[in-house]
Amino acid sequence: MSARRSDYFESRGRRSPDATTPAPADSPAGSRIHNTIPLRRPSLMQEPVLVLNATYEPINVTAVRRAMVLMLKGVAQAEELHASEVHSAAHAHRVPSVIRLLAYRHIPQQSRALSRKNILLRDRNTCQFCGGVFPSSELTLDHVVPRSRGGRSSWENLVACCYRCNNSKGDRTPEEAGLKLARRPRPFTLHTSRQLMRLIGHRDERWRKYLFY
Ligand SMILES: [Zn+2]
Repeated sequence: MSARRSDYFESRGRRSPDATTPAPADSPAGSRIHNTIPLRRPSLMQEPVLVLNATYEPINVTAVRRAMVLMLKGVAQAEELHASEVHSAAHAHRVPSVIRLLAYRHIPQQSRALSRKNILLRDRNTCQFCGGVFPSSELTLDHVVPRSRGGRSSWENLVACCYRCNNSKGDRTPEEAGLKLARRPRPFTLHTSRQLMRLIGHRDERWRKYLFY
């Protein structure tokens, strides 16, 4: 896992139909280890795993598969285990729920988590113009200030938007289109990051003590 990797909070709900989360293509050893992890329970392998820095600071959410690769490579160790196991030909592996990196990694706080999935999470799958709640597939991201006007792709300028509102807004500002934002899009902060992790991990009690909720 390198700092340039942008898979923060992205591990779940990936659209690829196969069970393989992004393989660690950074080293031949990585792909070899990757191939030894059994594929038998794809849904379990896609379960979210909280990633802690060496200092126990929560920094990421990844999938079980990738977490196990990090453990096998000696990059991380399990702090909390899932009740389930996965079986390969010779071994049963306890599945991690929380892992911790063994070496401290500096993570730039800003921009690391900017993604469609995270914007939708922040906005709770709610169109920020009409207030409707939609499945992710029926939402898009809207640039509040259109890109053609210099609007940036940032936490402060991207909102969840249904296709209907997106079409009616077109290449205009909300004011020009007669639309009103439900609320000002919040920037990414440590708080947002924790909030996203809690939303992803709300079913897993084992995450609580690291996320303080
Ligand atoms: Zn809408």
